[in-house]
Amino acid sequence: NMSKLMHQINKDLAADLVKKVDNFLFDCDGVLWHSGHPIAGCVEAVQKLKKLGKRIFYVTNNSSKTRQQVVEKCQKMGYPAEQDSIICTAYVSALYLKSMNFTGKVYVVGNPSMAKEFDQLGINHVGIGPDHFPDNVKSFDDIVHYQMSWKPDPEVSAVLVGFDPHHNYMKMMKAATYAKNRNNLFLATNEDPFLPTQSEICIPGTGSIVSSIKYPSRREPHVIGKPGTAMFDLLHEIHGLEAEKSIMIGDSLNTDIAMAVNCNLKSLLVLTGVDGLQQVEEHQNSDNQHTRSIVPDYYIDSFGHFGQFIPQ
Ligand code: PLP
Ligand code: CA
Repeated sequence: NMSKLMHQINKDLAADLVKKVDNFLFDCDGVLWHSGHPIAGCVEAVQKLKKLGKRIFYVTNNSSKTRQQVVEKCQKMGYPAEQDSIICTAYVSALYLKSMNFTGKVYVVGNPSMAKEFDQLGINHVGIGPDHFPDNVKSFDDIVHYQMSWKPDPEVSAVLVGFDPHHNYMKMMKAATYAKNRNNLFLATNEDPFLPTQSEICIPGTGSIVSSIKYPSRREPHVIGKPGTAMFDLLHEIHGLEAEKSIMIGDSLNTDIAMAVNCNLKSLLVLTGVDGLQQVEEHQNSDNQHTRSIVPDYYIDSFGHFGQFIPQ
């Protein structure tokens, strides 16, 4: 059982990649920026690729923004971006349902940006916004009684779980009830366990919210974001991207690099985010065959340094 090898980017490898690859797919947080602050050299590196005629896409699991909001975030920092270059989970989730001619209603554990993307594509939804027990429902018996008297909406035929700062016990009950019904679709935007922070604080990510629904419903969701294939399917079908001519640049093995493996893309790990060389080594030496395959083709300490290797 040979472990998959990974190569550190040097001048020759970078020149070779720039020659062979047409499409550069970037994870955002941890690769291009840290919570809104660009990582040194990355804006210049992406601009250089753009000048060489490369196609640039921003492929993010973050479901808390619309495409337009991500465009504005990119442009504010100097990254070249337009609506069509943003592949975010709020939009792709709506498009996924649209493209299967979904005509029912979706119960969404989510946020106003997801509502906006769903409204723009004409997908009916309920659930977004705060939802709590009435003030007189206090004791355990009251809560159970209240929940038993709730009637599921018969028009709902799908559940989608994304980032929701209002997530609570009420929403868990509703989402789990819909998800438990195997006639209903069960989707998740992504399963990132925590949000990237450079601090000791643990900010639970959407995967934590998804867990609270898959555990009681005993179902596994179809994941729209990375490492799922829906985002590259969209790039292939709508933008004509070929896997052999595309590279995914990411900071997370289990989302970015796993998506690249699932979609047969080239992959480049940067060490400015969640995973480091130790995690790569753990994957290379894992007993699990699937985990052993989730190893990038290349790595570089920061994408900012890739810019220095790009021929002018
Ligand atoms: N989900 C949420 C809610 C986030 O805020 C973030 C990053 O800020 C992510 C996911 C991860 O995004 P990315 O795929 O760009 O690393
Ligand atoms: Ca990331």
